[in-house]
Amino acid sequence: MSLARRLANGLMHLVYPGICPVCDRAIDIEEKLPCASCRAALVADAHEACPRCGSTVGPFANVEGGCVICREVTLHFERVIRMGPYEGLLRDVILRMKHAQGEVLAELVGQLWFDKIGPTLKQFAIDQVVPVPLHWWRYWRRGYNQSAVLARVLARGLGVPLKKRCLRRVRATPSQTEQTPAGRWQNMRGAFWARASSDLRGKTILLVDDVLTTGSTCSEAARALRQAGATRVIVAVVAKSRD
Ligand SMILES: [Zn+2]
Ligand SMILES: [Zn+2]
Repeated sequence: MSLARRLANGLMHLVYPGICPVCDRAIDIEEKLPCASCRAALVADAHEACPRCGSTVGPFANVEGGCVICREVTLHFERVIRMGPYEGLLRDVILRMKHAQGEVLAELVGQLWFDKIGPTLKQFAIDQVVPVPLHWWRYWRRGYNQSAVLARVLARGLGVPLKKRCLRRVRATPSQTEQTPAGRWQNMRGAFWARASSDLRGKTILLVDDVLTTGSTCSEAARALRQAGATRVIVAVVAKSRD
């Protein structure tokens, strides 16, 4: 176990001694967290996913140029790498990450995630890792940005810089869950700005978020990164939600 993983593991055991932070089952204090059955369930993605938008597709679907859901949609990122669909245990764990002690849980989930997707990510020769920022008031209410924690774990695993302040959310956007799909795209237009000092020119960026729904948030963030000079934007999300 890496030092960061040992620390997160130890911290979680301190907060919830002998309890798996994902399924609440009693486990041995020495056990690696989350418990073995949760670890297996979280990384098991039973379905094929569209490489362009991360949607679940059938085993024989033609995903050349995207799937039926995304083929007609303009996306400013090139590819989506997901841990799994937004359902079951993965959904539960993402909701838990938004609450107290979520930061340590995000660290543990991030490490599990990197174990799974690290080899795929390395093929893209990522230069920098950028989290999707929260608007300041949401950050203030939650106390941390789960995407930034996940991005930090991936950057550390890849051995590349984490650019936490590269993107700025220039306006608060109404909650995406209350929007229709068309409204979500409208809602996100111009929501991000990449700082001029970010040194993005010619770079391949890994953009990290917890959940991807229509892709409008990540696409707008990717647009800002590319306007600032980034050549390629690859998206990594813990879960792809259908709506
Ligand atoms: Zn468990
Ligand atoms: Zn697709």
